[in-house]
Amino acid sequence: MSQNELSKAGFETRAIHAGYDPDPTTGAVIPPIFATSTYKQDGVGGLRGGYEYSRSANPTRTALEGALAAVEDGERGFAFASGLAGEDTLVRATCRPGDHVVIPDDAYGGTFRLFDKVEQEWGIEHSPAPVDDVDAVRAAIRPGRTKLVWVETPTNPMLSIGDIEALAAVAHDAGALLVVDNTFASPYLQQPLTLGADVVVHSTTKYVGGHSDVVGGAVVVRDHDLAEKIAYHQNAIGAVSGPFDSFLTHRGLKTLAVRMERHCDNAERIVEFLSAHPAVREVIYPGLPDHPGHDVASRQMRRYGGMVSFRVDGGVERALDVCDRTTVFTLGESLGGVESLIEHPGRMTHASVAGTDLEVPDDLIRLSVGLETADDLLADLDRALG
Ligand SMILES: *Cc1c(COP(=O)(O)O)cnc(C)c1O
Repeated sequence: MSQNELSKAGFETRAIHAGYDPDPTTGAVIPPIFATSTYKQDGVGGLRGGYEYSRSANPTRTALEGALAAVEDGERGFAFASGLAGEDTLVRATCRPGDHVVIPDDAYGGTFRLFDKVEQEWGIEHSPAPVDDVDAVRAAIRPGRTKLVWVETPTNPMLSIGDIEALAAVAHDAGALLVVDNTFASPYLQQPLTLGADVVVHSTTKYVGGHSDVVGGAVVVRDHDLAEKIAYHQNAIGAVSGPFDSFLTHRGLKTLAVRMERHCDNAERIVEFLSAHPAVREVIYPGLPDHPGHDVASRQMRRYGGMVSFRVDGGVERALDVCDRTTVFTLGESLGGVESLIEHPGRMTHASVAGTDLEVPDDLIRLSVGLETADDLLADLDRALG
């Protein structure tokens, strides 16, 4: 299928075919892993297909980057060594000392640390604001200095929802760019660029890779000048995705749609089960009608995702006990893989924010609902909740 035909194709078709046509010399249907650092030139400056050195470009990465742009409805995609490598490159491409960024008040811990401990040292300031409160985000903007309004939706682990269209308007009024970390939703469930966002970032380590076997990041944009700046910085900084990692990430992306449907099916079963369980105080899931972000999520997401948080009766001891007792759910950090994971944010992913405004309830448990048989997942939770 030609790359031109793809612009009108559906999500699944783009995820499978965008970025790569079968290799003209061998017919290889899948992009080979081009394990090469350099490329023979046909005379000085005579590059074949623009390839010169694999930090600047590598065909395995080019294929992934084309597919990432296509699934986010963007113009250009960039693949990085990790989500944080992509974030740092984006900040350096768009901010200068004295500039300011609004970040979520429950940002992913690594993103918070990047701004608080690294970018801050280089003169880039940040203010936290809750993504589900448009007025609070507007109030956090410093006119003339705020260059980026950075949001995650759904957030981690409280699964708050930011209204991407409304936040884009607020950012643009102030001359800032809206950046959406789309890791939790994945491009299958939500496409922020189509809602007015300027930049999408991903930890492709999570749903896009989807098999917990690779670390990677992505940045996708529509604007030509912004793309040129990011391309320049991607090469100048060099935190790129290597060919093996690009291959695995691209392989994962092809099945994203079917995986996300099943992640959502299983999550919905679990939400229903937990909501009826006497030991459960509260279930947090944007698909529940009483979730404060339910209406916005219904507008901007195809379904509500594979992440579920819940609070148990019996406080921290009970929560830790449940985390210890599951056998199908693996105790671990990260998310978005085929295997179900359980974790205690207060003592694990969010331990570093204990005692601050960002502290999470200590009876909270977070699930990354995987693709195992739903009945096995329910039985496991039932046993653990005892
Ligand atoms: C994991 C994660 C990141 C960071 O990505 P890495 O690939 O670990 O560098 C950023 N944002 C969110 C929402 C994440 O879950």
